[in-house]
Amino acid sequence: QHPSTSNLPSEATVILRDVFGFSTFRPHQEQIIGRVLRGESTLAVLPTGAGKSLTYQLPAQLLPQATVVISPLIALMKDQVDRLPPAVQERATIINSTLTAGEVRDRLRAIAAGKYKLVYVAPERLRQRSFLFALRHCGVSRLVIDEAHCISLWGQNFRPDYLFINRAMNELGQPPVLAVTATAASDTIHTLQTMIGPLTVVQAPVFRPNLFFQVIQVRPGMSKARSLIELCRKINGSIIVYARARQTCEDLALELRSAGVAADHYHALHPDRAGVQERFMNGKTRVLVATVAFGMGVDKADIRAVIHYNLPASLEAYYQEAGRAGRDGLPARCILFFSENDARVLRTWLQSTTITRENLRELYRQVRRTITYPAGVIDLDALQSQFGPAGEVLTRVGISVLEQVGLLKRHFDLPLAAVVERTGTVAATDWLHHLPREAIEIDLMLLAHQHNIPVAHIEAVLLEAQAAGLLRYRPGLRLPLIELLSPPADAGERVEGWLERFRQYQEQRIESMVDYARSQRC
Ligand code: ADP
Repeated sequence: QHPSTSNLPSEATVILRDVFGFSTFRPHQEQIIGRVLRGESTLAVLPTGAGKSLTYQLPAQLLPQATVVISPLIALMKDQVDRLPPAVQERATIINSTLTAGEVRDRLRAIAAGKYKLVYVAPERLRQRSFLFALRHCGVSRLVIDEAHCISLWGQNFRPDYLFINRAMNELGQPPVLAVTATAASDTIHTLQTMIGPLTVVQAPVFRPNLFFQVIQVRPGMSKARSLIELCRKINGSIIVYARARQTCEDLALELRSAGVAADHYHALHPDRAGVQERFMNGKTRVLVATVAFGMGVDKADIRAVIHYNLPASLEAYYQEAGRAGRDGLPARCILFFSENDARVLRTWLQSTTITRENLRELYRQVRRTITYPAGVIDLDALQSQFGPAGEVLTRVGISVLEQVGLLKRHFDLPLAAVVERTGTVAATDWLHHLPREAIEIDLMLLAHQHNIPVAHIEAVLLEAQAAGLLRYRPGLRLPLIELLSPPADAGERVEGWLERFRQYQEQRIESMVDYARSQRC
């Protein structure tokens, strides 16, 4: 469909040319910009590199008040702002956790004075009522939800902060919304519509003519590693190889290097991830063998091939990962190794992780053991490779618990009872009740470390909560613990129901991948 140009005011074309320096719109940009200007809430699903940022950066220049952009990664925000044309950059600002309260106040004042057209905000602010009220008072023209797939409870990049979006919308006075993402599974669309209200989806066909998809059938006796090395030798330019296990990444990179290919590996536990990424970005490393930990926010246009050494966990994940090839529009290859055994491995992996409440307890104990004082973080990757979906469940639970206490900090002026009461309406607090009681134990040191706040502050709130009978706080030198009192009676059933849904969802995803690989193999 060709949206007519007359939909856009002529200033839009002038800004496109004179401010952004582009002569024409890319497909769909015009249509989306028109909708944003008219105040029609929209979900834009366009592949990476399609130019989603322009669809809010440009209208922001024409709207009377600030456009607020919720963006999930501090690094992404900074990168976006750095790349804005000077005239736009001058009127853009970032509000994230690195600012002091004083600095936040100053920026809010500047927004109220009309200095900023674009305000990038971290998702945690969605929870902060005082901030949202202040923002509303300053004037908000539009709300943009970047990387909108992070809202999906079941998705890989789920962020509990986004669950507050519905409430945040009210507090901001229901501005029209533009949600943008490169991958929108139906549950993302559904969640957005539930949380935000009716949205029209503008979706580009996923077809990218410069990408050549190929499935290589792995036969018994065939050496995958040898085939991979051959492929890497034949293909010129940068290549990402995705493998499931960290050890496989290390082994393959080593083999590639012995075969004379400039290769390196990347995974969540690599001690120098920034260095590895840097060398790949600047072309010193030609082939990067990585787990899926490598990807989000990586913007390298000239990747000539994405090779999947193992079957990805879902078709959606496959499109997202393979889609990192050929962003410059030049021909690129997406190659998937497939064997029936791979499919079996995926299914077994899922089956072996059907969890009971007892398992959950045991797993949680293990989680706690992996949190090592003082600089411990929950190691998502290790958990997932150890426990599969169960690990994923647990890390989310763990993160949510941490997030809850993070709330205490952000609502410092509120008594804890009020915090619990207010957040009780959203799913985030629900997580607490999904847990066996002994699982609700938190390493405050870790928390303090992650949120960069004095332990004494958290302790003060916890003591207050204890006095109010809401929780029991057991101070200790290394592992101060808290326990929430009286989880609801049906907590166990809810855990099981929830886990079952999660399992079914995973199963569906795996089967979609296997079907695809079978239908395409050659
Ligand atoms: P996405 O967020 O969809 O991945 P970006 O917004 O980062 O994509 O845009 C990708 C690249 O395309 C950027 O370098 C941007 O400057 C460029 N771009 C966006 N719109 C246009 C356009 N209309 N004409 C030319 N280049 C554009």
